[in-house]
Amino acid sequence: MIPFVDLARQQERIRDRLDRAIARVLDHGQYVMGPEIAEFEDLLVRYCDVDDAISCGSGTDALLIALMAAGIGQGDSVLLPSFTFVASAEAVVLAGATPVFVDCDPNTYLIDCDQIRDALEANEHDCCAIIAVDLFGQPADYRELNSIAAENRLTLIADAAQSLGATQNSCPVGTLADISTTSFYPAKPLACYGEGGAILTNRSALAKVCRSVRIHGQETNRYDSVRLGINGRMDTLQATILIEKLAIFDDEISARQRIAQRYNDAFETLPVVTPKLLPGNTSVWSSYTIQVESRNDLVAHLKADSIPSAIYYRKPLHQQAPYKDYPVAPGGARNTEALCNKVLSLPMHGYLEDGEQDEVIDSVIQSFA
Ligand SMILES: *Cc1c(COP(=O)(O)O)cnc(C)c1O
Repeated sequence: MIPFVDLARQQERIRDRLDRAIARVLDHGQYVMGPEIAEFEDLLVRYCDVDDAISCGSGTDALLIALMAAGIGQGDSVLLPSFTFVASAEAVVLAGATPVFVDCDPNTYLIDCDQIRDALEANEHDCCAIIAVDLFGQPADYRELNSIAAENRLTLIADAAQSLGATQNSCPVGTLADISTTSFYPAKPLACYGEGGAILTNRSALAKVCRSVRIHGQETNRYDSVRLGINGRMDTLQATILIEKLAIFDDEISARQRIAQRYNDAFETLPVVTPKLLPGNTSVWSSYTIQVESRNDLVAHLKADSIPSAIYYRKPLHQQAPYKDYPVAPGGARNTEALCNKVLSLPMHGYLEDGEQDEVIDSVIQSFA
């Protein structure tokens, strides 16, 4: 069976280097904040062309740390899309703030900037920040988002859990918003073997506070907590694995982009909506997500052909139990509600071979025959 995400082939490629890297950590024994943490952060700084990278325990922690460091909490509202992974909203509530859900564009799946403007104009909420999500691997519309943020004095946070390695108008993810957060969960494009995340920013004062929040609010020594913090450190072992994986990441991104293009070409004449990129964007294709009217039929057909698929996302966040009492921006989230019934993600990873992809493509074509 074709894997939805294939971590085994990647591991085979770098297994020797991973074994040696893990052995080095076992030898020095600094499992928490060992030297590989700073080494990986330096590599991320260079990779993203950003001033500061703060590694942390997960993409969810990255968002929570960013919000806490930016002083966003009780009494504050944060605009964010309803069509995203639950963590984007979870961090807002954990920080004590109120999420205000915004709809998305049905072609790009990205947050609807016009609705953000309408919501700010209606002025029903005390909004102090936007969390834009780079859904499925491409950056949100940061040119527009940055002007909205500047005009309304909002902090702009990019939830780049799915988009590290992508660019917008030649600028890398990590530099597109005031603060960007990412995840190294195994299903993400750049993945560790467990939990991991990072915060990227050019604001050095904010970076300093993030480092403090990451370790129980400590600043100069471990006996004084100067602010509220969390235990948000990345394991040294995960950093050491990520150092090896970052070295082959660009190669994998190219493979993903080629595979996405093959899907686009193959589906051109079918009754499916293929994912669209914003002008100026590149994507790292964390998911290849199409829209079909009769999703159940296609899923059943793929399943009969032993081809895995996944639904990202099946339920809008504003309808999920912990979030259903929080506000939706004026105009509602109709596109999100419709997309949840139509989206389907197909196998996508840097090691999908042409022959395997052809099996997926043939099965999709057959299901419409
Ligand atoms: C995966 C993901 C997160 C959370 O990352 P974790 O490392 O799993 O905590 C946040 N936002 C989005 C959009 C994600 O896809």
